[in-house]
Amino acid sequence: MPVLDTAALLHWPVDRMQGGIVAHSQLEELRNLSPQRAMLVESIEMEWMSMSTGDAENAAAKTGDLPRLSPVDLDILAIALATGQTLFTDDYSLQNVCRSVNHPFEAVSNKRSEQQWSWELKCIGCRATKKVDSQKEQECDICGSPMKIKRSRR
Ligand SMILES: [Zn+2]
Repeated sequence: MPVLDTAALLHWPVDRMQGGIVAHSQLEELRNLSPQRAMLVESIEMEWMSMSTGDAENAAAKTGDLPRLSPVDLDILAIALATGQTLFTDDYSLQNVCRSVNHPFEAVSNKRSEQQWSWELKCIGCRATKKVDSQKEQECDICGSPMKIKRSRR
């Protein structure tokens, strides 16, 4: 059974969602986005789970995607990694983390991204780069100029 992100819960027909694996925290998110869909999803047979997010956070930190993932994103990523099931998501950061650990994923509606990337900080002065490890603004260790987050291909 696939793990479904909230886009699937919003857009998929009932027969496609049925039996899918979802995180408990998604119900609250779905209630905020669409109370009708939340009621629908609650009324059908779904596998509701919660997992500890340590491994998911570690994997996301390695690609630099961690600051881009919400607590709900991390919950579904953790469930996908723990169960070994395919993750359906349109979130490019979630797709990126899955790819980095060779975990199967599919797009909900958009075309899936094909390229592996990571995020890095690049100095606007001397153009030095370093790994993104937090959401904080940072200054260059070499010249003191501000650093901006950029996508880098691997
Ligand atoms: Zn610099």
